[in-house]
Amino acid sequence: MKLLLRSLAVIALIALVGIGLDTFVSEHGAVWWLGIAFVAAAIMQTVYLVRLYHWSSLPRNRALPAGIGPWRPIIARLARFVRQETDARTELVSELERIHAAVDRLPDGLVVLDRYDHVLWANDAAEALHGIFGTRRPIHHFIRQPEFARFIQANEPDSTLRIQLPAYPGHTYELRLPRTPGDQKLLITRDITDQAKLDAMRSDFVANVSHEIRTPITVIAGFAETLLTLEIDEAARREYLGSILKQSQTMQRLVEDLLMLSSLESDGSTLEDEPLEVQPLLESLLEEARLLSQGRHHFALRLEGPRRIVAAPGELESAVRNLLTNAIRYTPEGGRIGIEWRVQDSEGRITVRDTGIGIAAEHIPRLTERFYRVDRGRSRANGGTGLGLAIIKRIMHRHQGRLQFETAPGKGSAFTLCLPAARLVPDPVPVPVPAPAPAGTAQAGTDPASTAQRA
Ligand code: ADP
Repeated sequence: MKLLLRSLAVIALIALVGIGLDTFVSEHGAVWWLGIAFVAAAIMQTVYLVRLYHWSSLPRNRALPAGIGPWRPIIARLARFVRQETDARTELVSELERIHAAVDRLPDGLVVLDRYDHVLWANDAAEALHGIFGTRRPIHHFIRQPEFARFIQANEPDSTLRIQLPAYPGHTYELRLPRTPGDQKLLITRDITDQAKLDAMRSDFVANVSHEIRTPITVIAGFAETLLTLEIDEAARREYLGSILKQSQTMQRLVEDLLMLSSLESDGSTLEDEPLEVQPLLESLLEEARLLSQGRHHFALRLEGPRRIVAAPGELESAVRNLLTNAIRYTPEGGRIGIEWRVQDSEGRITVRDTGIGIAAEHIPRLTERFYRVDRGRSRANGGTGLGLAIIKRIMHRHQGRLQFETAPGKGSAFTLCLPAARLVPDPVPVPVPAPAPAGTAQAGTDPASTAQRA
């Protein structure tokens, strides 16, 4: 409307000039002047068209030509469009930069490939992982494993490949080709070292459990078959039944240990802490051990210092019981087994010491692994499951403590459960005793009244 009015105004101005000239000059002169005015208006339009045409071929940041008459609103509107477009473009560019920076910070490598598997773009992680530099080079220049060549050629959407990268030994990577629209491919590289280790552990664990169960089951099945098919005397029958019972007990222990381990490791299992007296706990475990040993070993209990702690009684009992069972298993008849409690370096320490066969140094780093045994045959013969120390380690971890051992072949072993200072409950302040003790009987840091020894 504005534009129409402005155009009409120009025409009206020319018409007025014509009418004026008609009145003051002559009819003939007026026609000439009108003609000149129209030609001038046409030249002005052409000049503006040319200037706009020229402007449109310049970079977008160049200013628009100034407009007069009907061109003023046209150019103003055009300028607004240009401004809006520039703003939108600036916003888009900064958005892209933000996305780019975020993608570069991703730990996963991202590579965009064209239909010929040439690199179009790679983020920082992909450049570092695969040594990618520049673009338009084939991806197999950077990832040279033959299995990768097959993987990229097969180009199956959502397929994955596990590989090791020469620049990162010891790590496992998963390459993925997610489904993408169009010809381009997106190659994602992810470090899955931890997951690969877990997978390996899981499958080792399943293989170990199957192996542990297969042995007793084979024995049980064999003896049961013999009992069913052969005529045997009473003594042999009892012996076979005894073997069946022993193997079933081994399986039972294995299942119990597995359940214990799984409950200790389950996320939902919380530590049932409560205040505990160490002395009665260790005394009753010592009695149990004495029964288990059936008089084959000598036992001793020694307690020093404050004896109250905060712990989960069931778990702590289980840890000490496992250590005592091992001491009995791996200490020949006539050997000595001792339990000690003391507070040292602000830790509460329960040590189970034996004079048994001991362990060679090379086995020590692996002792707390599940199913690790120094002597598989000996452990099995003694009813061991290979899970005892793994369970103890887990229990100590849950108590913010640790398991420590000193051992040497032929010299015996000492396994110590170390509980942190926060789990020690100080003894109440002692009531002063009127009669003084004779000088020289107490050792530094040892309360003789609280030292118990039982043999
Ligand atoms: P196991 O059920 O076989 O005893 P553990 O996890 O309790 O399994 O112990 C792992 C291995 O450590 C045992 O197989 C044994 O070889 C060794 N071991 C544990 N305790 C002792 C010990 N007191 N003396 C000698 N060797 C031991």
